[in-house]
Amino acid sequence: EKSIDTAMGTVISQTVYVTGNSATTTNSEINEKITDVLLQKLNDLEQKELSWRLESAEVARINAAAGEGQTSVSPAMSEWLGRCRQISEESAGAFDVSIGRLSRLWDIDTWAAAGDSGDYELPRQEEIAEALATTGWQKIQLEQQADGDSVSIPAEMQLDLGAVGKGVALDEILKTLEAHPEVSGAVISVGGSILTYGSKPEGGAWQIAVTDPLDPSESVGVLTLDGGHCVSTSGDYERYVEVDGVRYHHILDPRTGSPAHSDVAGVTIVTKDGFLSDALSTACFVLGQEEGQKLLEKYDAEGLFIDHEGTITMTEGMRQYFHLSNSQK
Ligand code: ADP
Ligand code: MG
Ligand code: MG
Repeated sequence: EKSIDTAMGTVISQTVYVTGNSATTTNSEINEKITDVLLQKLNDLEQKELSWRLESAEVARINAAAGEGQTSVSPAMSEWLGRCRQISEESAGAFDVSIGRLSRLWDIDTWAAAGDSGDYELPRQEEIAEALATTGWQKIQLEQQADGDSVSIPAEMQLDLGAVGKGVALDEILKTLEAHPEVSGAVISVGGSILTYGSKPEGGAWQIAVTDPLDPSESVGVLTLDGGHCVSTSGDYERYVEVDGVRYHHILDPRTGSPAHSDVAGVTIVTKDGFLSDALSTACFVLGQEEGQKLLEKYDAEGLFIDHEGTITMTEGMRQYFHLSNSQK
């Protein structure tokens, strides 16, 4: 039942179980149909909404109109930007989607997932300062009105919704699965952000491995989750370049304009909501373990933090889900 594809510039793996057999359609045909629908959803999301590169997308339109007044946006985009604002506020700006100039300056998009530095050149301090001056979530103007919602950003600002893209994708996937009653269970991974849905044919909970940020080919343990959970991870090993033995990764500290240096090497969030899990994983990575846990308390979210020595800490509620790998028992 497992299929692997790419969409939104990342790897999608889907395991979908369906129940019942009609006379004309086999399970595997239904399966294929559903995985196709999900992939189409993800492509739509990228092309119509989230991308800053594709002119057709709303984020690209907002960015193109920077400094030129309000751009009308879909109810969905309005909702996402409103939720982004709230998380920026709650995280004291550790999470900030107005970092578009910075992420482009660092060239995060072009980095190989495996960290090959090639002929990469680090941005200069003046360039970082210049890009940093264009950021600030408070300056995103979101207007919600009866005749439609609109947003405007200052002339130099650019939005980057990369921190919530996979989470938004999980929420869309959940809606799609709910519209297909023949799906009895599924586990879907969008670039490592995971949705569990329904139950396994043989019963029992879904098992989700938690990557060891110190050795990403290994896992530190397993999350045991029933259907309806979203799992998002942010880590310094996911996307980076190495220059002169120093690792520069893809999560930026909006206070410095450079890759965040907290006590967190990897953080995994479990919630019932994809958007939230993704946004909170990025925020917690920047904030560090202590402030991160405080942030999670404000939401119905659980978190597991791994520091640079491999020490694991977690919220109280995470204990019911997480089990260490056998080798570590
Ligand atoms: P992944 O994309 O691997 O799931 P994250 O969810 O942590 O990782 O998102 C990282 C992406 O979010 C970066 O590639 C960048 O586009 C954007 N980003 C980086 N730093 C921040 C930040 N402090 N706040 C909001 N978005 C950020
Ligand atoms: Mg995120
Ligand atoms: Mg993410």
